[in-house]
Amino acid sequence: MLDNLKILYHQGKQFIPNVKTAKVPGIFRGRPIISTQKVNETELANLCPMHAISSNPVAIDLGKCTFCGECALQYPEKIKFTTDYKISTNERERLIVKEGDDFAIEVNPAAVRKEIRQIFGKSLKLRQVSAGGDNSCEWELNAANNVQFDMSRFGIEFVASPRHADGIAITGPITQNMAKALEIAYNATPDPKVIVLVGTDAISGGIFAGSPALDRSFLENHKVDLYIPGNPTHPLTIINGLLDLTRKKR
Ligand code: SF4
Repeated sequence: MLDNLKILYHQGKQFIPNVKTAKVPGIFRGRPIISTQKVNETELANLCPMHAISSNPVAIDLGKCTFCGECALQYPEKIKFTTDYKISTNERERLIVKEGDDFAIEVNPAAVRKEIRQIFGKSLKLRQVSAGGDNSCEWELNAANNVQFDMSRFGIEFVASPRHADGIAITGPITQNMAKALEIAYNATPDPKVIVLVGTDAISGGIFAGSPALDRSFLENHKVDLYIPGNPTHPLTIINGLLDLTRKKR
């Protein structure tokens, strides 16, 4: 009994009441801000192991960035990472943050398919497909449903079968070995269905981009409804992205 009380005292109130305004520790790297200060842009671009930085103007592609922080460490006057975790969007180009930009990355409501908000506005069941993932984003998807983040309070849950799902959440760079399984899972999901890419690997191939072991043709044949960046993604990025995609008002 005393032990239980000690645990209660130690853990306090675990769940996060407001997933939109919750604060994350300063060590977290979310949306970057790039200043207009002049630097050697070629050197800056070349230091990124992910080729996520482009020049003239300097920009970071969050679909490729692994949030390693090296650019901010080497060029602190040029690049800073904020703790803004609301970085999911339905338009790939919105993941590219340019110098001077300091505005939220958002879902464009005009580009959301009408049926998504009509049908999935209060309930969304997803089948998760790890297409060669390293289990990092998969863990964070699990965490999104734990007692702290509690995504299921919004009616968003994972289901075991694609036949019971409203869409698929893809993690991993999509390997050749998983390409067919991914297509089968997608085909088994009833229409209308959503496709969500979770993490840098899923969005761009990540550190595996260009590898002959990948087969990303699935993404050429199907429209993606939501990009959730991160390496791995944060549960608050996942939850806010899915809510922004499916809810008219929050
Ligand atoms: S934080 Fe992103 S943009 Fe910066 S060096 Fe690392 S991968 Fe490249």
